[in-house]
Amino acid sequence: MVSTSLPTISQTESSIRLAIRALQPQLVEWRRLLHQRPELGFREHLTAEFVCQKLQQWGISYQAGIAETGIVALVSGSQPGRVLAIRADMDALPIQEDNLVSYRSQRDGIMHACGHDGHITIALGTAYYLSQHPELFSGIVKIIFQPAEEGPGGAKPMVQAGVLRNPDVDAIIGLHLWNNLPLGTVGVRDGALMAATELFDCTIQGNGGHGAMPHQTVDSIVVAAQVVTALQTIVSRNVDPLQSAVVTVGSLHAGHAPNVIADTAQMRGTVRYFDPSLDEFFKPRIESIIAGICQSYGASYGFNYQKRYPPVINDRAIAYLVRSVAEAVIETPAGIVPDCQTMGGEDMSFFLQEVPGCYFFLGSANSDKGLAYPHHHPRFDFDETALGMGVEIFVRCVENFLIPNGTPDGTSDR
Ligand SMILES: [Zn+2]
Ligand SMILES: [Zn+2]
Repeated sequence: MVSTSLPTISQTESSIRLAIRALQPQLVEWRRLLHQRPELGFREHLTAEFVCQKLQQWGISYQAGIAETGIVALVSGSQPGRVLAIRADMDALPIQEDNLVSYRSQRDGIMHACGHDGHITIALGTAYYLSQHPELFSGIVKIIFQPAEEGPGGAKPMVQAGVLRNPDVDAIIGLHLWNNLPLGTVGVRDGALMAATELFDCTIQGNGGHGAMPHQTVDSIVVAAQVVTALQTIVSRNVDPLQSAVVTVGSLHAGHAPNVIADTAQMRGTVRYFDPSLDEFFKPRIESIIAGICQSYGASYGFNYQKRYPPVINDRAIAYLVRSVAEAVIETPAGIVPDCQTMGGEDMSFFLQEVPGCYFFLGSANSDKGLAYPHHHPRFDFDETALGMGVEIFVRCVENFLIPNGTPDGTSDR
């Protein structure tokens, strides 16, 4: 792809929007390039190379190779001050793209079907703009390019590698392009935005035999059916009705013939919830249901439980900051969607466990242009107008959080 030269950006604060609009062709170019060469989690080598090349070109200092392919860039303001981190995830999904656009994925079976190509682009656009305008802020903007959000999770190893320290991060923000919301809207709220994600698998060991002689067997299918039904009572009978939670059995396999009683049944499922106080609740409750039912039928079981991501919990003050900035950028309070919680999970939560911050959704669907397929769909694509909006929201958050010689808006009570 032919690279065009970057526009000269005006120095005045009031011209931020115009300057970012002028950057739009480059944002689209970067996003489409990234879209054409998607890479799976912890293998984002070419992606990381592209990011580093841009940072180098703009004279932005960075460290690469953190948690395999992660990168941390530091953009300094004209004066010393606090540190605001911006997080972008970089990985694609094992999906065959069905779009026929000129910039479709050139890798069979791999696709940026969640919009992370857009996240990288927005973070790069923000880095570029801020590097050209150190006078807009005091302190440091730390931009974290994270691998493997879709799994197995790159945020935790990046936190463990110390990306929130040296310099220590005071707050963190991040966004997800969101096709569940139309272009021109922003989903932002304080408290829980996305759910904890936990996984379990269970093998029920019965005793197989002839389908006509059940009295000689322990039927693992009958036991499994009881377990699946009983697990549904956890949310309906054990969790406070004013709380939200999900227990889903998404996979159940047993048997291979109509006249054979299955020896074993295997099930796999997921648990979702918002309230961190439920952290220790589901695993023992699920296991006690499995154990009790198996015991009553004379079956045995194996059980594995995996906590993947904690819930995404936004800090009130930083959410307020993002909300005020977003209102100004989209120019309509009606475009702010506070009722935007989802039971989906995100490993942004590991950063938010360490420092106060806000993760938010940037509406990117445009049904008039046929850009409204859901995330992880083979025809997922988004309205690229959202790229510039994302940069503008990040830049204005920086301006407002890292005010030169000033007190940050909305964060004085932290
Ligand atoms: Zn995704
Ligand atoms: Zn995603």
